[in-house]
Amino acid sequence: MIEIKDLHKSYKMGNNSLHVLKGINFTVDDGELVAIMGSSGSGKSTLLNILGMLDVLDEGTYTLDGVPIKDMNETKAAQYRNKFLGFVFQSFNLINYKTAAENVALPLYYQKVGRKEREIKALKYLEQVGLKEWAGHLPSELSGGQKQRVAIARAMAAEPKVLLADEPTGALDSKTSYEVMDLIQKINDAGNTILIVTHEPDIAKMCKRIVHLKDGVIIEDEKINQVRASSYVQ
Ligand code: ADP
Ligand code: MG
Repeated sequence: MIEIKDLHKSYKMGNNSLHVLKGINFTVDDGELVAIMGSSGSGKSTLLNILGMLDVLDEGTYTLDGVPIKDMNETKAAQYRNKFLGFVFQSFNLINYKTAAENVALPLYYQKVGRKEREIKALKYLEQVGLKEWAGHLPSELSGGQKQRVAIARAMAAEPKVLLADEPTGALDSKTSYEVMDLIQKINDAGNTILIVTHEPDIAKMCKRIVHLKDGVIIEDEKINQVRASSYVQ
């Protein structure tokens, strides 16, 4: 699904350049649930943003579902993003003046799905995250955990090949974090490929593989026996 070879990325600041990713190699197969770990500043978000086509690499190759991601114009990149990738962020990034259902329906609008079908799908995905009753509510009326579940429903509504989540539990307490991880595990159980950036070991243990980043390189890449979040959630 994902193949990264000898990936390098630097940020230029004036005359200086900060070499953030220094030769990353890894592949992710269909159906994996991968945690990307590392201390603050180790390049986790930079890597996820490149995988998510929100940023471009300097050197190396990136192949997504057999397609080389390189030198694409913004229109083409946006098409691929919409078709292949779903995003979840620490800060939810919901639109405040739109209801839960409208937020979930938004990516479908960009996919040119008709209005009626958008409404049906939005409710379907809200139901899958246990929030059908909250469809007409604004983000300000939802708890943090509920907001993140709406954000996950929004990401899934476009039926992406890969779900990318940057510290999805970073703004949540432990109990709510485990509820969100329970949902993420269920989405992965259904066959979806998911990558999560986290610096919380208990969250990483709920994935099936942990990739450790340090100083711009992968220092460890291990398959693990997944801890089920449901054992912490009633
Ligand atoms: P992490 O997500 O692991 O905390 P990041 O990928 O956000 O790390 O950042 C890695 C390094 O790159 C940090 O030193 C950060 O300050 C720097 N950095 C990130 N984004 C930018 C940017 N847009 N411009 C300049 N420096 C950046
Ligand atoms: Mg980050």
